[in-house]
Amino acid sequence: MQNNDIRAQLIKQFPAEVVETRASINEMCYSCPTCNRMVSKGMDQCGGCGQILSWKNINSQEGAGGKRKAELHFEVPSDFVPGDCRKCPISYIDSGTNSGMYECPLRMRGSCELIVE
Ligand SMILES: [Zn+2]
Repeated sequence: MQNNDIRAQLIKQFPAEVVETRASINEMCYSCPTCNRMVSKGMDQCGGCGQILSWKNINSQEGAGGKRKAELHFEVPSDFVPGDCRKCPISYIDSGTNSGMYECPLRMRGSCELIVE
């Protein structure tokens, strides 16, 4: 191995920020800053060239699991407890396949995460 190769290998041990590219309106793709190969979200090392990858900038824009947080405040009846879809003002009755069932627009039915003050 030549000195330049060793140097290149050493440099790759330092995390380098991945390159973010918008693939479509709601899809981002990421590539290695050293060799430009596509990398999957969250990979800590480039499979092509071994570059250690950093996701700091991207993680600071998004929360865990690639999701950001949104908060919504609304009123619930005083006897409402989280998970009680019948009393939840944002639930709706699905007229489709599960007819008669209360559906959660936040898709939290069965695992309600509402916080009641
Ligand atoms: Zn690479």
